[in-house]
Amino acid sequence: MSATDVKAAAADGGAELEPRSPVLALDIGGTKLAAGVVDAGGHVHSFLVVPSEAARGPEPVLERLWELGREAMAESGIAPAEIGAVGIGCGGPLDPERGILLAPPHLPGWRDVPVSALAEQAFERPVTLENDATAGAAAEHRYGAGAGVRHMVYLTISTGVGGGVVVDGRLYRGAMENGGELGHVTVDWHGRPCRGCGRRGCLEAYVSGTSIAERAREAGLDVRSAEQVAAAAAVGEPVASEVWAGTVEALGCGLTSIVNLFEPELVVIGGGVSRAGELLLGPVRERVSAGAMGPAARAVEIVSAALGDQVGVVGAAAIVYDRAESRGRGS
Ligand SMILES: [Zn+2]
Repeated sequence: MSATDVKAAAADGGAELEPRSPVLALDIGGTKLAAGVVDAGGHVHSFLVVPSEAARGPEPVLERLWELGREAMAESGIAPAEIGAVGIGCGGPLDPERGILLAPPHLPGWRDVPVSALAEQAFERPVTLENDATAGAAAEHRYGAGAGVRHMVYLTISTGVGGGVVVDGRLYRGAMENGGELGHVTVDWHGRPCRGCGRRGCLEAYVSGTSIAERAREAGLDVRSAEQVAAAAAVGEPVASEVWAGTVEALGCGLTSIVNLFEPELVVIGGGVSRAGELLLGPVRERVSAGAMGPAARAVEIVSAALGDQVGVVGAAAIVYDRAESRGRGS
């Protein structure tokens, strides 16, 4: 698709959108579906979550999501006619311009699903689709920990590791709109296999919740989740502490490279694993501060995300406003 085609498609998709009206925001996760109505100020007027049961395949799962969307609209207290658009966040890879989920690893068997077209049929409103980590970055930048910041990196650490980058106040998307895959920064080029991309030694292969639990089991601990590893490390259990130290080391290493690349004022860390709080952020801050190039190390602050469990729906709305403004700027 040429740049002109991309612009034409974008203009076409947004023709009916009133930029400031509330948005029906939908989030398609590997374990949960979420829906909510969010306004241009980032206020969440309704918020509903159900298990995704992704293995049932796209058709029944999307039917359930549309139903959840209708419930969220009914519960929001906002007149349906005022809800001007639908935003959808989902793990990549995806094609935001064409509104297609390509083959997201968290949704096995979902291939080339035209989710935007299906949502347009279901809700008769323009639909914006975006990578959920990019959407999370938009949400934290507009309404959360990064409000008002010009250069920001967002890292979400949960089942996988996703990222988003704000450069000079604007969300960075890349040539095919899947840029900012910070989870696949290499921290050990002969290292552990990465499930997300098939290479070796990605940040995700060490610090995702899945990888933390896996490394703990390999070290002999009987655990199912990263949360259990964090809890054991917090009380000084020696094996868990060692696994946790490895997590901190990998995150410190990857984040130092990322900070050197972008020289952000702020790094915002979200996702389930970030609930470990200072047990994670404290030592990671020290490593980045000691390891990053001088000016980048002095510029950066590393903080927890502010939006919590609602980041998925707030993000799915934020990208609708972001796209509308980008079109307004003619880019
Ligand atoms: Zn990878």
